[in-house]
Amino acid sequence: MSWERIKGHDYLVRAFAEVVAKGRLGHAYLFVGPPGVGKRLFAGELAKALLCEVHGRDKLEACGRCSACVLVDAGTHPDLFTASRPEELVELSINTIRELCRDMALKPARGRYKIVILDDADDLSDAAAGCFLKTLEEPPPASLLILIGQTAERQLPTIVSRCQVIHFAGLPESEVAGLLKEQDIDPALIDRLVRLSGGSPGQAQALAEPELWEFRRQLVEGLARFPQDSVNLAKQWTEFIEEAGKEGGPQRRRATLTLRFLVAFLSDLLRQSLGQPARLAEPGDARLLEKLGSRLDAETITELIERSLEADVQIERRLQLVLIIEAFVDAMAQRMGGLSSLGKAH
Ligand SMILES: [Zn+2]
Repeated sequence: MSWERIKGHDYLVRAFAEVVAKGRLGHAYLFVGPPGVGKRLFAGELAKALLCEVHGRDKLEACGRCSACVLVDAGTHPDLFTASRPEELVELSINTIRELCRDMALKPARGRYKIVILDDADDLSDAAAGCFLKTLEEPPPASLLILIGQTAERQLPTIVSRCQVIHFAGLPESEVAGLLKEQDIDPALIDRLVRLSGGSPGQAQALAEPELWEFRRQLVEGLARFPQDSVNLAKQWTEFIEEAGKEGGPQRRRATLTLRFLVAFLSDLLRQSLGQPARLAEPGDARLLEKLGSRLDAETITELIERSLEADVQIERRLQLVLIIEAFVDAMAQRMGGLSSLGKAH
């Protein structure tokens, strides 16, 4: 029953049930995959099933009622430790990891296991990664370490080599749609969100904000304007990102979402220029796609898409958002023949 909350990863549920039944559960796993596909949820359910005091090894499932299950749900089980990067910080600090490792060194208080779920493992500081590595190298008996990140490439090779890497793929569109329908989301938006989600319910949910769609309209209209007013466009864009909150985290997330809209729009533009039908277009896009399509060839559009993806990487690397957006809008204006913010006509 308890695994019902986990959608789209049935194969992994079966695989873990099998290794547990055979007594071959590893000490350390690295869960990787796109954001929002359910890695954290899966790790939580796995921990709960392992700590449940009703079911034995023959059944990897949490009963949901025993005191261990209740403690896990309340976030107070003495053998389950979780950590993630605080929203306002750019890294997981060595102090957080030291504390985790100290907790792990103790014997299990009540369960068969001691379990650590370390989210945002992509953001371990070098010192924190080094500290964690010691626990990975000599894991205490009965311990299970679950690290969660986006790709194995973002971890130190020494960390990856000590973990079994488990890949989480995006969910089928029907599963994403099903999950969205269970939530308080405007039904008229669901189809579009599913198309843009890339199989990630988390991303689909993040894109459901009405403000984002309003900004999307301004953004694509600003792009299609000729000559492009890049100074104003960069200003509007930066302001919209800053409205997401004071902290860097929410601002970066919003910047990434707006870029996702842009990449989807440019991909439609590219399809159109290659004589294929648009896939992700909004009702008002046809006019703008036509206008831009008459001025840009496939090569330039491809360059713009590449430049958008580059900006996305810069956001993840935490370069200053305002600089990323300004440089990006400027580069676009140059390729699109508008006025760049440097005042040169191209
Ligand atoms: Zn239970």
